[in-house]
Amino acid sequence: MEKKEFKAESKRLLDLMINSIYTHKEIFLRELISNASDAIDKRYYQALTREDLQFKKEDFYIEVIPNKEERTLRVVDTGIGMTSEELEENLGTIAKSGSLTFKKENEIKDGIDIIGQFGIGFYSAFMVSERIIVKSRALDEAKGFRWESDGSEGYTIEETEKAQVGTEVILKLRENTEEENYDEFLEEYQLREIIKRYSDFIRYPIKMEVTSHEKVETEEEEKKPEYKEVKKVETVNSMVPMWRKNKSQLEEEDYINFYQEKRYGFDKPLKYIHMKADGSLRYSSILYIPEKAPYDFYTREYEKGLELYSSGVLIMEKCPDLLPDYFSFVKGMVDSEDLSLNISREMLQHDRQLQVIAKKIKEKIKTALKSMLESDREKYEAFFDSFGKQLKFGVYSDFGQHKETLQDLLLFYSSKRGKLITLKEYVSEMPEEQQAIYYASGESVGKIDKMPQTELLKDKGYEILYLTDEVDEFAIKMMMKYDDKNFKSVSSSDLQLDDEKDEKSEEKKEGQEEILQKIKEILGDQVKDVRPSKRLKNHAVCLAAEGELSIEMEKILKSMPDGGMGAKSEKILEINTDHKMFKSLEKVFKTDEEKVKAYANVFYNQALLMEGISPDDPVKYTEDVFRLIEE
Ligand code: ADP
Repeated sequence: MEKKEFKAESKRLLDLMINSIYTHKEIFLRELISNASDAIDKRYYQALTREDLQFKKEDFYIEVIPNKEERTLRVVDTGIGMTSEELEENLGTIAKSGSLTFKKENEIKDGIDIIGQFGIGFYSAFMVSERIIVKSRALDEAKGFRWESDGSEGYTIEETEKAQVGTEVILKLRENTEEENYDEFLEEYQLREIIKRYSDFIRYPIKMEVTSHEKVETEEEEKKPEYKEVKKVETVNSMVPMWRKNKSQLEEEDYINFYQEKRYGFDKPLKYIHMKADGSLRYSSILYIPEKAPYDFYTREYEKGLELYSSGVLIMEKCPDLLPDYFSFVKGMVDSEDLSLNISREMLQHDRQLQVIAKKIKEKIKTALKSMLESDREKYEAFFDSFGKQLKFGVYSDFGQHKETLQDLLLFYSSKRGKLITLKEYVSEMPEEQQAIYYASGESVGKIDKMPQTELLKDKGYEILYLTDEVDEFAIKMMMKYDDKNFKSVSSSDLQLDDEKDEKSEEKKEGQEEILQKIKEILGDQVKDVRPSKRLKNHAVCLAAEGELSIEMEKILKSMPDGGMGAKSEKILEINTDHKMFKSLEKVFKTDEEKVKAYANVFYNQALLMEGISPDDPVKYTEDVFRLIEE
């Protein structure tokens, strides 16, 4: 029989798994049961929606069967099963979901991290098994197939006898070692515990044969009572879906378990929301705000959505219509008795009931985030660190439609307080005469803090919001105002300062205007204007922008695939006319045309450099610098 090799990355992960010292090895059972339950969901759905399939409710179950003599543990399900192609596809490649690609090679030292954070489904069973056999027969297939592997090199697939549709996973448990006791996975009692702990809410019965000792009735009353071993198949889990239970019956731990059992994420959720409505529209929902963004969250691959159930039957794994894009990080499920089971995906989009539920969900998430912001700032900041960017995209997207919903959930770094603040907090501490909300954008807080454009405002004691995410300024521009106050970039040519005229009492000095005019001529269409600066104190030059597009935005647009389609900001070169450099220029202005050109070019390029933009002609720039420092 042909032996197939695991894909390279699968092999590596398997290796980690097998040699892992991960302490919660028992989670393999949760993973297998969870797979089994998903498979039954799929078959159940088929059974309900296809006329040609006959079924009874009792047909759907999971069975866990330990066998001490053979040292095997079997997990049997009556789910949808797998074809030989599916066996190959699903079990031949590990971590299809990408948990591995996300981690860079050298970050993986041992498997603990991956298992702990992501869980890795089926493969986790290799932690406890020296060999795994999967027998499966898919729905509508006449034949069954058998997949087998020792987890090291490869696997084989061959035809096999299988009477029932569904899957049977047979684990050949490892021998005990000094550190590890694998026997516990053969003990009824232990298995029951594990199932209870991790898989109690599974909707299908998880059956297990349990042994009890029953008294043997005898005629003779005097004799010692005799017991005999009786084996009975029992359902171990309570089967009540979590969301049907009352909140008062549930503990935080239950919600966390459910999150992990459902594989919504492998982190611990920051917050959970349990909703129930019994009015004209009946539904229940459990929602989670995860702590960490999944590795693909900010990529096109990420799919938002909630699980959608109709009266307890899963009809869609990721229903996108239940979540707005700006809350796409939310995980969880919705079950409604008022949704039709046979509704198609296309129809769902226009379903009135679904729209009402989506609206409620949106409001609930917003309220939950607001209350987290108000009552647990540290937690909120952790949330914002993961998903703040998404909220800011939300403000910007759809032409600013959602800004009202989102503006009070945003945080920005404050120059004055050295930490993240809300816009409300900013406004509440504005001095009376301050008219605008000031912001500065750049790569990092450290870099922005050194921007010459911030000098004057800092001197006046005004707070500046430091924008470090690319999306920030776009979002702010979309908001336009907050609490009736304009947003103003520190680099804008008009800072909207009341007392601007008094600043530096600018009596135009003789000949200054002429010099600035000349510089403008030399620079040509690189700048829109050259002006004496009111905001610079220690620095010689800076750039300001007029109009809608800031210099920072131009940079971001330029880095996009279409190069921002040539979008350009209108740059104003501001010069500090009190600065030594300007004085030196004044001295040679009438006498040395070449030097004046060099000054103009150096001023402009230095202003560019401070904005993090490279000169168009670095060679010429360097020559001009040398020309000026020659003497
Ligand atoms: P995950 O469940 O996270 O996708 P797994 O490695 O646990 O990852 O499983 C890979 C795939 O194999 C599943 O997505 C499913 O399609 C299939 N699979 C696993 N177990 C079963 C089962 N008991 N019945 C049917 N299909 C299964």
